[in-house]
Amino acid sequence: MQWKALWAGAALGLAACATVPPPAAPAASVSADANRAFAAYTEALLEDFWAEFPEFAFYAGNYRHADRMTVPDAAKRERNRAFYQRHLARLNAFDAGALSDSHRVDLVLIRNRLESNLWAQETFRAWQWQPSSYNAGSSLGPVLAREYAPLDTRLRHFLAKLAHVPAYYRAAMQNIADPTLEHTELAVIQNRGALNLLGADLAGRVESSGLSADEKALFARRLADARSAIEGYVAFLENTLARLKAGPARSFRIGAELYEQKFRFDIQSGISAADLHRLAMAEKAKHHDAMEKLARQLWPKYLGSAPMPADRLAVIRAVLDELAKRHTTADKFESTIREQIPALEKFVREKDLLDQDPTRPLLVRTMPPYMQGSGAGASISAPGPFDATAATWYNVEPLDKLPAADAESFLREYNDWMLQILNIHEAIPGHYTQLMHANKSPSKIKTLFGNGAMIEGWAVFSELVMLEAGYGDHAPEMWLTWMKWNLRSVVNTIIDYEIQTRNMSRDAALDMMIREAFQQQKEATEKWRRASFTQVQLTSYFSGYAEIRALRERERARLGKDFTVKGFNNKFLSYGNAPVRYIAELMAKEARY
Ligand code: ZN
Ligand code: ZN
Repeated sequence: MQWKALWAGAALGLAACATVPPPAAPAASVSADANRAFAAYTEALLEDFWAEFPEFAFYAGNYRHADRMTVPDAAKRERNRAFYQRHLARLNAFDAGALSDSHRVDLVLIRNRLESNLWAQETFRAWQWQPSSYNAGSSLGPVLAREYAPLDTRLRHFLAKLAHVPAYYRAAMQNIADPTLEHTELAVIQNRGALNLLGADLAGRVESSGLSADEKALFARRLADARSAIEGYVAFLENTLARLKAGPARSFRIGAELYEQKFRFDIQSGISAADLHRLAMAEKAKHHDAMEKLARQLWPKYLGSAPMPADRLAVIRAVLDELAKRHTTADKFESTIREQIPALEKFVREKDLLDQDPTRPLLVRTMPPYMQGSGAGASISAPGPFDATAATWYNVEPLDKLPAADAESFLREYNDWMLQILNIHEAIPGHYTQLMHANKSPSKIKTLFGNGAMIEGWAVFSELVMLEAGYGDHAPEMWLTWMKWNLRSVVNTIIDYEIQTRNMSRDAALDMMIREAFQQQKEATEKWRRASFTQVQLTSYFSGYAEIRALRERERARLGKDFTVKGFNNKFLSYGNAPVRYIAELMAKEARY
């Protein structure tokens, strides 16, 4: 499951950098002047960021540029390049040895982000071969969805943005060269979704608003122009698709060299993608051993005296298939999720696992149309640190439009046990809780320029925290289901690497997901789609989880009787979304917490 936080659809990808060594610790030379200068610089940098990347500002909860829409043309890329180079030069002027631990980590994160964005623009160049990078809905949609100002104000912001939609799509069509079939198909689906945003519902809201008659007339004209710009883009993509289907097309596989580069920028764990792949292979074998034990234990309860197959994977699969029969229905999927949230909140409170904040709302909603179709199923849209008290949305993809067989397959995957684990992961104490803590962190840089592996790793780790504390009453069904879920992130890591760098076929990937990781057909085919749209992101779950689990064991040994689960969790979450390796360095300096 994906988290959709500050960066969703914005001009900036998640990133971190490889070329920068981890911060050293020359505490003797730390200077108050240098730290003041650095703090002042980060403030100035953020001001610059807001102006240059208005969509990023919006996601961060800074609404000063909410009426602006970035047109992704060549002139904009030129300005971006100058921006990255200017700020990299300014960073180089700081003596890292004179900064505090926290500022030194901030410096590394900023540099990582700048270098990574420059690499993405100049080397990776997804703006040329991923037509799905372009979707006006991701700039327009949040202005209506997030209630940061009265509706009339937001409609005026929307109106101002609408003026740029035709130029936005002209730039998109100019940029696209040698696209992949997969990203072209995704772009068609998502841009059709964006058309829904500009339909009768919006026209009705404008009509009943406080806008003047002139504004309303202008709105209607711009809306019509924006709709035809999107329709023009979809038609352009459909022509492109016909050509790509008939002849050779660029592969979505990026190859080993770009993959290792992207992995270092995005994951920032200190090990290579090839090493993580080896770790994941070993973890898969460990899970199979543990799952075999649980499945043999559960066999009589669910399969009575039926003969056990010789293949241990078949034994596990048979028991999981029985558990999969217990599930909710397509029309109750969203409401079942909504009803489970209070129980999770209560369990965390009663077991004293970490701090929660009931004043920060979590709202379960149907995933907006412009976000549907990525294959994620569910996601979290968290508010940015500059609007931290706004609602967090738990987006649930609707199942009612799916063919019955697909919906059934999806529901078997998210059966009564698995749905609870999904809710832990997405909501409490997973993404929602973590991002709420991150927004309270005094370090805005660590929150804004943070690390996806830390975020996904925490969500996965939080499932372990809950089960260890007795969530689900230590039932073997719960543990077996969790292992299957955890195996998914392990296998995500393996297939992402092998698909992108070793030409793993669709059949081989589906076989590993279905036979070795016990996934339903629907889940596996959706994952294949996602693996063809994204690179590296699928490894972030296991990478972050493995690092956090190892860190906790080190801290438990170091602190001895002073170690508490709540103390560790609260402390870990207090550093914003910094990469786990830097959090580990900072935590190790605390005598206790
Ligand atoms: Zn997640
Ligand atoms: Zn069923």
